[in-house]
Amino acid sequence: MTSDADVIVVGLGVGGEFVAGRLADAGLEVVGIESALVGGECPYWGCVPSKMIIRAANTLAEARRAGKLAGHATVEPDWSIVARRIREEATDDWDDTVAVERFTGKGGRFVRGRATVTGRRTVVVGGQEFRASRGLVLATGTQPAVPPVDGLAGTPYWTNHEALEAKQAPASLTVAGGGAVGVELAQAFARFAFSSARQARAAARGRNPRAGRPCRP
Ligand SMILES: Cc1cc2nc3c(=O)[nH]c(=O)nc-3n(C[C@H](O)[C@H](O)[C@H](O)COP(=O)(O)OP(=O)(O)OC[C@H]3O[C@@H](n4cnc5c(N)ncnc54)[C@H](O)[C@@H]3O)c2cc1C
Repeated sequence: MTSDADVIVVGLGVGGEFVAGRLADAGLEVVGIESALVGGECPYWGCVPSKMIIRAANTLAEARRAGKLAGHATVEPDWSIVARRIREEATDDWDDTVAVERFTGKGGRFVRGRATVTGRRTVVVGGQEFRASRGLVLATGTQPAVPPVDGLAGTPYWTNHEALEAKQAPASLTVAGGGAVGVELAQAFARFAFSSARQARAAARGRNPRAGRPCRP
């Protein structure tokens, strides 16, 4: 069965949700299709939760400076606090009900599923065909690229999704990729991850126990 609309928006991340919402606000019949969560990477696995981690990690770093600047502070990192904030305050436990209602409240029609473009203005989702009379918007964003490293496929590794859903900070972490996302996650996890035994060993060797090590091939 074919369902018609003025505009179809595939991918309701930050970009697609904005476009779909504005078009619906303007009175067009809009079908918005999302295979994961409405809002996309930014609120669930990107900007928002990563900034919560950075904020928490900066607080740890600042407290550790007390000895040099203001007296004495004992710092015991507790990842469960930031994990709980991400789950409860940022992501609703990775539930997009509120975001879906934000879109449907504007008159948009929401379809959950993975769209395949089958024609100039036609897509299929779960066996149902949708046809747009005025436009098809592709706002499908990006996914992390997994580099062709021997052995990686057989190794449990994280992308930003696993990193931002982590219930515990890992004791150690190697981050591949020194772009903004890699650097901010590497620094924040480094400020959380070190056990006191490891700190003591590093301090005895005269090294900053929380410093990351850059590695260039
Ligand atoms: C850790 C991290 C931190 C970041 N921090 C910041 C920051 O501080 N500030 C900032 O500005 N940006 C930040 N970003 C970048 C930001 O998250 C992205 O720029 C933004 O999410 C892009 O939005 P988008 O709508 O283009 O794509 P996306 O958010 O990727 O959304 C695209 C959506 O399309 C859906 N989709 C894809 N294919 C289909 C299909 N065939 N059918 C149906 N749905 C489909 C996907 O499920 C996804 O939800 C960060 C990113 C990461 C990973």
